[in-house]
Parts: sequence; C-alpha cells; structure tokens
Amino acid sequence: MANSDVPSNGNQVEGTVEDVVIIGSGPAGFTAGLYTARANLNPLLFTGNDYGGQVSITYEVENYPGFPEALSGPELVERMKQQAEKFGTRVEFDYVGEIVVDRHPFLVRTANGREVAAKAIIACTGARPRYLEIPGEKELMGRGVSYCATCDGFFFRGKDVIVVGGGDSAVEEGLFLTKFATRVRILHRRDELRASKILQERAFANPKIEFVWNTVASEIVADAEGKVAGVKTLNTVTGETGQLETEGVFIFVGHLPNNELFKGKLELDEDGHLVTDDKMRTNVPGIFAAGEIMDKVFKQVATSVGQGCAAAMQTEKWLAELEDHPYPGFADPRVFRQRVAVPV
Ligand SMILES: Cc1cc2nc3c(=O)[nH]c(=O)nc-3n(C[C@H](O)[C@H](O)[C@H](O)COP(=O)(O)OP(=O)(O)OC[C@H]3O[C@@H](n4cnc5c(N)ncnc54)[C@H](O)[C@@H]3O)c2cc1C
Repeated sequence: MANSDVPSNGNQVEGTVEDVVIIGSGPAGFTAGLYTARANLNPLLFTGNDYGGQVSITYEVENYPGFPEALSGPELVERMKQQAEKFGTRVEFDYVGEIVVDRHPFLVRTANGREVAAKAIIACTGARPRYLEIPGEKELMGRGVSYCATCDGFFFRGKDVIVVGGGDSAVEEGLFLTKFATRVRILHRRDELRASKILQERAFANPKIEFVWNTVASEIVADAEGKVAGVKTLNTVTGETGQLETEGVFIFVGHLPNNELFKGKLELDEDGHLVTDDKMRTNVPGIFAAGEIMDKVFKQVATSVGQGCAAAMQTEKWLAELEDHPYPGFADPRVFRQRVAVPV
C-alpha cells in the first residue's frame, strides 16, 4: 500500500497522507516500525525526547531473547532502529505535541512545527519510573540504583539490597529480590504499608525481608568505584538522620505512563494507561497502542516488542479493510468497535 495524496476540502489537510505514524522510539515503537515497514506501509516514526525510551537508560539487558551475552540498553536500541530503518521506517527526531483524532485522516503536530495527516496511528509513548529526585539517584542509575527487580535482580545475587516504597510494586519486587539477595530492607515513609494484605503477609513471613519504618532516603552514596555504597536516611517522625550500607537500591514509588498527548482524546484507565482490546485497538478506530503506554502488568522489553508487533499487524489489517469501508462510518462491526465516550 502506498501513501496517497488527498485533496483539501476543508476537512482534510493538503498533501501526502501517511498510512501510519508511530509515536515513540522505545522497543514497542521500533518493532511497530519494523513490521509496518515490512508490510510496505512506509511508516513515519517520531522518536520523542527520550530516544530509545527506557532501554536507553538500561546499563545491561540480560533477558532479551537472542542475546545470551548481555548487551547494553543503548546498543539494543541502536540495533532495533537499524533493523526498522533497513526496511524503510523513516525515523524523525521530533516530539509529538498534539494529535487530532475527531477527524480522519488524523492529524499529528510536532514540536518542530510538522503537521502530518495519517490514516492510522500507533501510540508507543511508554512510561517512566517516578524518581525520588534525591542526590546520587540519577548518577548511580545502572550502578546499583534500579527501578526493575525482574530486570536487575539477578545482578544482586548474594548481596544486600534496599527497596524504597510501600505499595504493591515495592513489596512484590522486594519478595522477588529475596531469590537473589541475602537481605532485603524495605524503607517506607509511614509505619504501615499500602500494599495488599496478602502481599504484606508474605513479606512479613519472609525471613530475608526487614522493614525500616517511618524512613525516607535522602541521598544515595557511592563508593570509590562509583557504585552504590549506601543510603542516607531521614526519620519522618523524629527527624533523626542516619546511613544504611547497601549495594543496591530498588526504587518503586510509582510508574507514570506518558499519556499527556491522549488526555481527553482517547480512553485512559484509572492509572492513566491507554485502554486497548486484545487487538491493541484503542477506543478510536485506526489508533492502536503498544508497550507500556497500555501495559501496566508486564513492562518488559520482550513484552513491549510483542505488543508493538501485534499493533503493527492489526494496523496493516485495518488499513486494508479501510479501502472497502471508508472512514468515518464505524458501521461494520467486523472492523470497528463501538466508539465510547472519552472523559475529558
Ligand atoms: C532503568 C530500567 C531498566 C530496565 N531494564 C530492563 C531489562 O533489563 N529488561 C527488560 O526487559 N526491561 C527492562 N526495563 C523495562 C523496559 O525498558 C520497558 O519495558 C520498555 O522500554 C518499554 O518500551 P516502550 O516502547 O513501551 O516504551 P519506552 O521505552 O518507555 O519508550 C517510550 C518512547 O516514547 C517516546 N515518547 C513519549 N512521548 C512522546 C511524544 N509525545 N512524542 C513522541 N515520542 C514520545 C519517548 O521518547 C520514548 O522513545 C527497564 C526499565 C528501566 C526504567
């Protein structure tokens, strides 16, 4: 399918209409690029401000299949980009500032002033961990500071680690870390957890887990080699300060989907993720989503890649059907889901 020219009639933009615009350059975005390019859709991909997404801040990726010897996050991103480009994905270093979804073709406006009409959009804007914003945190990321136990737990075999947080993620990841670490201390700002009762019971029963109540981390300190050596603490009740020695700090104080673009336009769940069905479709026909913008459960490179692939395959199908069922109309239940009201 080739990109087509659409005449201007007031409701449509002049010039070329892209078959598909992909928003985001993480694993989901580059995979969507690879698959739509190989389907001859000549995709246009906007990278956003965080080229490569979260993988690009990952020191080492050991759990992505096909690479038994670990590779660095930036290298994996570069390989994904090269593979997507090899088949024709056009990668633009630009940030999407607005999408217009109540018309078709959709409109995509970027920070550099580009205005692009697109028949389909694949949203792959991902998410970001909420940071503590304390000294040492960013500097020691990948050198003992982590936001993902599934990804990095293995590196802490036989070591002593600290988990910061008190919700489900903190406790669940803390429990996971006990498979590797000799001791897991969970630092929590209050004297009771927000995590579900069942997780709390498991954590309290685990001999490797200790709780440090009413305590926040105020700084992460490094050793002479520039690796995590400890955490400076502040007691939220007494104001007392202290320092705990540790080799790893796992921070789970929230995960924020990058959804600014979609608020009031596409359906979001209570945590701000795009709502999709099992075919990666959002509530607006022609707009698909993949990766951490819609997934709050798995949050891995491998799963994001899988979702990017699925979204691309569905996009291809949708565009093929579009030729027989011109948009708008949403009449054919085989192709279109019911539009649902989007809360503003
Ligand atoms: C420190 C760390 C270590 C990790 N280690 C591992 C690991 O070892 N193994 C593993 O499997 N997983 C790991 N993960 C998780 C993994 O990185 C994510 O699951 C994966 O990157 C999600 O991919 P994604 O494509 O959905 O989104 P992201 O990687 O979050 O990428 C989102 C992309 O969207 C772009 N974007 C956002 N808004 C806009 C916009 N308005 N316009 C244009 N572009 C936009 C951003 O620039 C970015 O390129 C780690 C995560 C972190 C934070």
